[in-house]
Amino acid sequence: SKSTLQGYAPICLGLEDFYIRRLYLRIQDCFNRPISSSPDAWFDVVERVSNDNNKTLLRTTKVNRCLNLGSYNYLGFAAADEYCTPRVIESLKKFSPSTCSTRVDGGTTTLHAELEECVASFLGKQAAVVFGMGYVTNSAILPVLMGKGSLIISDSLNHNSIVNGARGSGATVRVFQHNTPSHLEKVLREQIAEGQPRTHRPWKKIMVVVEGIYSMEGELCQLPEIVSICKKHKAYVYLDEAHSIGAVGKSGRGVCELLGVDTSDVDIMMGTFTKSFGSCGGYIAGSQELIQFLKYTCPAHLYATSISPPAAQQIISSIKVLLGEDGSSRGAQKLAKIRENSNFFRSELQKMGFEVLGDNDSPVMPIMLYNPAKIPAFSRECLKRNVAVVTVAFPATPLLLARARICISAAHSREDLVKALEVISTVGDLVGIKYFPAEPKKQ
Ligand code: PMP
Repeated sequence: SKSTLQGYAPICLGLEDFYIRRLYLRIQDCFNRPISSSPDAWFDVVERVSNDNNKTLLRTTKVNRCLNLGSYNYLGFAAADEYCTPRVIESLKKFSPSTCSTRVDGGTTTLHAELEECVASFLGKQAAVVFGMGYVTNSAILPVLMGKGSLIISDSLNHNSIVNGARGSGATVRVFQHNTPSHLEKVLREQIAEGQPRTHRPWKKIMVVVEGIYSMEGELCQLPEIVSICKKHKAYVYLDEAHSIGAVGKSGRGVCELLGVDTSDVDIMMGTFTKSFGSCGGYIAGSQELIQFLKYTCPAHLYATSISPPAAQQIISSIKVLLGEDGSSRGAQKLAKIRENSNFFRSELQKMGFEVLGDNDSPVMPIMLYNPAKIPAFSRECLKRNVAVVTVAFPATPLLLARARICISAAHSREDLVKALEVISTVGDLVGIKYFPAEPKKQ
């Protein structure tokens, strides 16, 4: 019950996976879960409690206006926007909420065509295809591109949608140590050498799958090194930019722009519209031949209802704002703001003595809690002080690497961030998660 988990939950080591999962779910049950009414820099949290019979009750006894440090609304586009919102409403009237049809039947409107052109040109690729869901984009595309006799080399911390897509493809899957180019090269060399002496490579194709920003680690991909290794060993590069597209790079074009990688060196560019663009869906961008092939063969294109027109309009409009095509400099300001906010927040947390994962410029910053028993206390103490954070634990992370994952947005003001830092510092002392000595404050 809520009262028994007010402090720390017991940590259960040595249990079967099944029981650990159950424990994890029980701990999760006891949180106040953020329920967002408007996913801006602030949102409403509805208190949720478990009763003693293990049944979850949703009680709206107390609605807290909380500072939102949990959602992926990196640029603030998920809230009403002076340019995007009127256009989305217009598209709703014109095209309705759903096409109720697949892309190849009646589900391709002028908006869908415009969106694909807009995404391809934003990414500097010849063409793009969009899907109704980011998760499905990975899990449906990998099986179309790869199969028996092919090799997928996947970063060990890739998202579940990639893991599922890779498994479902029937290709041989190998993992390399998270974001470690030297280990990727080792795996590639071993796999290519396997079966020698031969006159040709043992694999029909090899694809290396990485993410732009790792969502549980906040790290930027070591893309320049990975691209050059892939070139050397003639492997395709598949880059998932769910968390980096729109969020980093001078004009929001993601890690390629930030790290100086030519997009022509990334064969398959994947991303989602659910973060920086405040919408839903996913995309694949690449060569004309690749996209044509996917449009003819991918079941998620052929048999699934197309992305909702207002969602498509939201993406087009937010990209226009980013490019300054709305006639304002708001896009550039948002990009400058998210970078400034992220770097400020990260450095302040570090100065306070927290262990923060990830790189500068990344808006994702996990604060290490380690012990999963610290999760309920951390989460609840923050909520009491009107700050909503997302905590992540097993099975999303290894059992003893629990963390609070902060997501910074351009919608946060400096005042919001200072308040959040004060709360996190107080709660950090309460829960005991400042693992480094704090830097003395400058007078
Ligand atoms: N790829 C990555 C790296 C993700 O983090 C996510 C979800 N956050 C997805 C794909 C799936 O995207 P969506 O939530 O838009 O379906």
